Amino acid sequence: MHHFKSATALRLEGQLVVYNHEGGPCYRCLFPTPPPPETVTNCADGGVLGVVPGILGCLQALEVLKIAAGIGSSFSQCMLVFDALEGRFRNIKLRPKKRDCAVCGDHPTITALQDYEAFCGSSATDNCRTLSLLPSDDRISVEEYKKLLKEQAPHVLIDVRPQVEVEICSLAHALHVPLSKLEEKNEECLETLGKIICEGKQRANGTAAFPVYVICKLGNDSQKAVQILQALSVKEFGSLVVKDIRGGLMAWATKIDPTFPQY
Ligand SMILES: [Zn+2]
Repeated sequence: MHHFKSATALRLEGQLVVYNHEGGPCYRCLFPTPPPPETVTNCADGGVLGVVPGILGCLQALEVLKIAAGIGSSFSQCMLVFDALEGRFRNIKLRPKKRDCAVCGDHPTITALQDYEAFCGSSATDNCRTLSLLPSDDRISVEEYKKLLKEQAPHVLIDVRPQVEVEICSLAHALHVPLSKLEEKNEECLETLGKIICEGKQRANGTAAFPVYVICKLGNDSQKAVQILQALSVKEFGSLVVKDIRGGLMAWATKIDPTFPQY
């Protein structure tokens, strides 16, 4: 028997499907290729309300028992979606099995387990996923950043975490610009940011803007922010040095300042 039950939960949503069961689609029928790793969020970054996977886990166990008892499952070619915020369950009919599926189709090309970390470009563990979007020249360590602070090197530090996390803890001199605002290219935000960065031009004889360092919780979102700012930099700010701080504030807490809260 090859069917497997999958239940996932993220933030306030959970999903349940029984794959490859009684003629229903397998996971790869529905998702033939993985999405780009930088577009995928996980529980460590996205957060999950603990009760939600608890509810999905119970439903999952129920489907296992129904299949074992020969009653069959209600979720073959059907996805249960649980919206914890609205308190609502919905059933969504899924596409049928694909005859040309690489795993369960008429002529399968994948007959053994693959290296899924390589296939997905992302670590299989959920708790400490680290993306590598930038060349190493565009990144500095927390130790290097600490040195910059000590030397009082002029720069702008941007904290791109969501507001709720900034309220938990932050570095006092950081300018808060959430990644979401950068992604939507929020004009007001970019204008304020541009003004602050370009102050460097006046102070440093008009030669260059302040270098910008970007920090987040774990060093993933900060890399996305650097990419956005680098793309914008020529158009909006003139040429600009933008780097991310590896490992983010949690690296700062473990390596530089043990009194800094870890969450
Ligand atoms: Zn399939």
